[in-house]
Amino acid sequence: MGRSSADGSPLISQGLVFMSSRLDEHQGRSEFFSSAKKLALGFFAERFETLAIGLGSDLIRPPGALDELSFLSCCTRCDKCIEACPQDSLIKADAKTGLAIGTPYIDPRTTPCYLCTELPCITACPEGALIWPTRATNGGFSRSGPAAVFIGTAEISSELCLTYEAPNRTPMSCQVCVDRCPYPGIAIKMKPNLDQTHAHPEVVSEFCTGCGLCVFGCPTDPSAIKIIPKQKFN
Ligand code: SF4
Ligand code: SF4
Ligand code: SF4
Repeated sequence: MGRSSADGSPLISQGLVFMSSRLDEHQGRSEFFSSAKKLALGFFAERFETLAIGLGSDLIRPPGALDELSFLSCCTRCDKCIEACPQDSLIKADAKTGLAIGTPYIDPRTTPCYLCTELPCITACPEGALIWPTRATNGGFSRSGPAAVFIGTAEISSELCLTYEAPNRTPMSCQVCVDRCPYPGIAIKMKPNLDQTHAHPEVVSEFCTGCGLCVFGCPTDPSAIKIIPKQKFN
């Protein structure tokens, strides 16, 4: 009873249920493999991105550089930005940088970026790996051009900076970094300490371009101020 009838409907319905369960099973397996494939691709894409960015993560890129992974894929290593820089600020990355080999970067202690008004490095790039910079402040004020450059942010070491007390060193007056900055009092300023005996330089990250002119000028060795590349903030 229940296995057959004159019109065969119980069998048909059982068959449909069976087929439907097979279909569900089939769909489940295919969805499982599809999800596994997506997961695997995602895993490898993430690993590749980590590897690619990891290798170039310490490099300070030219003004207007895209985010690190896009920059690595867009830059054809043509050297046009390097040739266009009137200050010889751009260096070609060597083999130690892995996938970043041949790409341009800045070593501010040797030659910082002078934030040329026309940003010729950017206009020379034929691939769109360097784009004209725009940047908004927290207050909503928007900048464009050299003042909007963000290739990193300066960071001061209180252990090395001459204005701070340290073993075998009494604090002294120094504000070379502020004086060398193209935006003194805006991107970096002197701030008196609590007892008003000394003033220390303080970076305002919102306005700092990462140009490295402060690093170049700092009299300590190693420099008491360094640039953290922008990709470290992502
Ligand atoms: S802004 Fe001027 S100094 Fe800086 S990297 Fe570009 S061309 Fe060179
Ligand atoms: S604080 Fe240093 S890196 Fe920042 S804009 Fe001034 S000179 Fe350039
Ligand atoms: S130039 Fe160097 S030592 Fe002098 S205040 Fe700036 S960070 Fe400190």
